[in-house]
Amino acid sequence: MQHPSYIKLHSSGELIERIRQLYSLMKECKLCPRKCLAKRFEGNYGVCRSTNQLLVSSLSAHYGEESPLVGWNGSGTIFFTNCNLWCLYCQNYDISHLRHGEVITINQLAEAMLSLQQLGCHNINFVTPTHFIPQIIDAVGIAVDKGLNIPLVYNCGGYESVETLKLLDGIIDIYMPDIKYSINQNSYKYSGAKDYWDVVQPAIIEMHRQIGDLKMNPFGIAERGLLIRHLILPNDITGSKKVLDFIVNKVCVDSYVNIMDQYRPAFKAYRYPELSRNITLDEYYEVINYAESIGLHRGFGKYEKLLEVH
Ligand code: SF4
Repeated sequence: MQHPSYIKLHSSGELIERIRQLYSLMKECKLCPRKCLAKRFEGNYGVCRSTNQLLVSSLSAHYGEESPLVGWNGSGTIFFTNCNLWCLYCQNYDISHLRHGEVITINQLAEAMLSLQQLGCHNINFVTPTHFIPQIIDAVGIAVDKGLNIPLVYNCGGYESVETLKLLDGIIDIYMPDIKYSINQNSYKYSGAKDYWDVVQPAIIEMHRQIGDLKMNPFGIAERGLLIRHLILPNDITGSKKVLDFIVNKVCVDSYVNIMDQYRPAFKAYRYPELSRNITLDEYYEVINYAESIGLHRGFGKYEKLLEVH
């Protein structure tokens, strides 16, 4: 396996400089597109309900992610508490909305990464990292000194600032963003982000510019690249076809796209009749067939599902 590029960045001293710049964006916080200017170091909460206190809800070798991340030893998942989106159907609402988690130090976070690596995990998978990214990269710096050398996965909701992403260039090996909506009206109504579609497109393009399409080693384990997730919501609340058109026309037809069918109403979804059911098989196949018809061919469909089973 090639060594991840963050190791080179650390040896050159550039990693420290990036950490400094990330903390500087957090001072009056502009880390994410909300740019809510919260003074988090003074104990104030941002729109993401976070101060500068690092909150983690779980650390584990996770086997429920996409097969190129899971391999045989699991993805070393670190699940951060809170979120910069407010999806009212959130499947992890206890963590993202109800703030379940524990305060940990940056040194403890570094140790956690090393423990997951020691367990044999194929990568370190930061789930919902956006609002804590300065502390996370700070911890990466400490962990590299102690031998961290597996790929880093940035697993996010897609509501990202390009300015922040540029500071992660050469640090993150695998970006795994959602593309949740292509309809701003719906992202506002169901996730509290009135410009989601405007924001997610340049963010995905920047991620792809940095690392390209998903590449795997001969054993099928992801080493570097972009893995896009798209969760189909009932009644086409997501605007799925426009999302897929964007991927083909502005990113790459060879993009790995996990088109997900597992939506279940959760949290406040039952207050909205249009969200209070699973998707139908027809809804699922309409999106899958469309993806195939425009040339997408990685990460979804019967063939991939069969590969995942065996
Ligand atoms: S990360 Fe949180 S505090 Fe910072 S701009 Fe976004 S919502 Fe505001």
